[in-house]
Amino acid sequence: MNFFKPSFYYEKVVDIGVPFLKTNNVECILLDIDGTIAPHDLPMLVSGFKPWFKGILKNGIKMVLVSNNHKNRVKFIAEKLNLPFVYFSFKPLPLGIIRALKIVSVDKSKSIMVGDQIFTDILGANVCGIRSVLVDPTNIKKGIMSKIKNWAEKPIRRNLGCGSN
Ligand SMILES: [Mg+2]
Repeated sequence: MNFFKPSFYYEKVVDIGVPFLKTNNVECILLDIDGTIAPHDLPMLVSGFKPWFKGILKNGIKMVLVSNNHKNRVKFIAEKLNLPFVYFSFKPLPLGIIRALKIVSVDKSKSIMVGDQIFTDILGANVCGIRSVLVDPTNIKKGIMSKIKNWAEKPIRRNLGCGSN
């Protein structure tokens, strides 16, 4: 098994449709925050997020935020959306993902992790044995670590046919 391989790829989180989720028997989405539903450390959500979010909830699909960021950042976004959350999740370690699944009481076979980072979100999902959707990062953070990570991910994304670069 390739631990860096996502189960699915979409350009943006808002492209993940309800029919796709229903077909794949998804009852809960584990959502990464930074780079996935919001630009890194910025207070706004990605364009089109609110209507997408409402559509997901209307169809009885649960959501839980699983972020490696600190409490204040994660709580701020969680309160905007009224969603349960796990901060300092330490993805790709399984603890945070397992905790998130416990919070929503959904089996991992009926869950899917959605995130923008292969080395945290996708690897974490694969370690836990849950399916995943890789999306393109909403913006490229200027920090040197993010630059290195994005550079390191490029050949993997290219190999998997995910993304334009
Ligand atoms: Mg992220």
